[in-house]
Amino acid sequence: MKIVVLSQNPNLYSTKRLVEAGEKKGHEMVVVDHTKCNLVIEKKKPSIIYKGQEITDVDGVIPRIGASVTFFGTAVVRQFEMMKVFTATESQALVRSRDKLRSLQILSRAGLGLPKTVFSNYSKDVSQIVERVGGAPLVIKLLEGTQGLGVVLADNQNSAESILEAFNGLQARVIVQEFIKEAKGADVRVFIVDGVVVGAMKRQGKEGEFRSNLHRGGSANIIELTDEEENAALKAARAMGLGIAGVDLLQSARGPLILEVNSSPGLEGIENATGKNIANHIIRYVERNAE
Ligand code: ADP
Ligand code: GLU
Repeated sequence: MKIVVLSQNPNLYSTKRLVEAGEKKGHEMVVVDHTKCNLVIEKKKPSIIYKGQEITDVDGVIPRIGASVTFFGTAVVRQFEMMKVFTATESQALVRSRDKLRSLQILSRAGLGLPKTVFSNYSKDVSQIVERVGGAPLVIKLLEGTQGLGVVLADNQNSAESILEAFNGLQARVIVQEFIKEAKGADVRVFIVDGVVVGAMKRQGKEGEFRSNLHRGGSANIIELTDEEENAALKAARAMGLGIAGVDLLQSARGPLILEVNSSPGLEGIENATGKNIANHIIRYVERNAE
């Protein structure tokens, strides 16, 4: 099969691993930088031009679209869909997952546990918002943030209010969230491919840090999920319509709480922590679905 990996950088760990796993199974693996594609939209024959040449005879696509290029990247994925090529992540699911607020609304409708969250239109009544999530300490998150940047812990009512006022003044959109103290600076990443958990790790923030992101110096270890955690993660991926998903959850006193569902989850952290060949699961998923 000819499988396209949409990635801006062929040297990234995840991209390299997907190419390696596909080639091992005898596939032709092609890395295409989606930001350099031209989309030709006409009556009958939609096509994609890359480096001056039409991309043809593709059996499957594995999108690895960075958050900063969601708009154009999604258009490329959609174009492949119009060309009737199987894509491991659907364009609609990709768009959905990139909107933190919409994602939380979808997860809430699916009946999943979530940290209590408030979103307002730069409301001046910051004290009311703080009260709504049960007071300080609380977490304030920039809607546009990733990798833990733009996630702030406010210890007390005063700092919560002044941080909110500062963000509002900058017209930066934020969500305000109840702080889950019992999580103790850790979260759980569940990697799902095609409705099956293929790996799970617990990430622990470094000393004194409530954010467990590996990019913020956290460390990761393989863990065994409880049935409740596994079911919640699978349900979250399904609600988002994602064939490949990295579901982040917090272990709280009232059970697992979903933080977010990642549509281009990185392979490095999870493969290193679990020792599992996650790339191969993704290739097999494409094999099962592409013609
Ligand atoms: P990002 O998408 O930037 O990684 P997250 O919402 O996942 O942002 O938050 C980053 C980290 O901060 C999480 O992995 C978790 O460890 C911690 N965290 C986030 N929200 C909460 C919360 N409500 N309570 C406790 N810890 C949280
Ligand atoms: N983009 C990475 C992922 O989705 C983030 C890892 C981290 O949390 O540091 O896996």
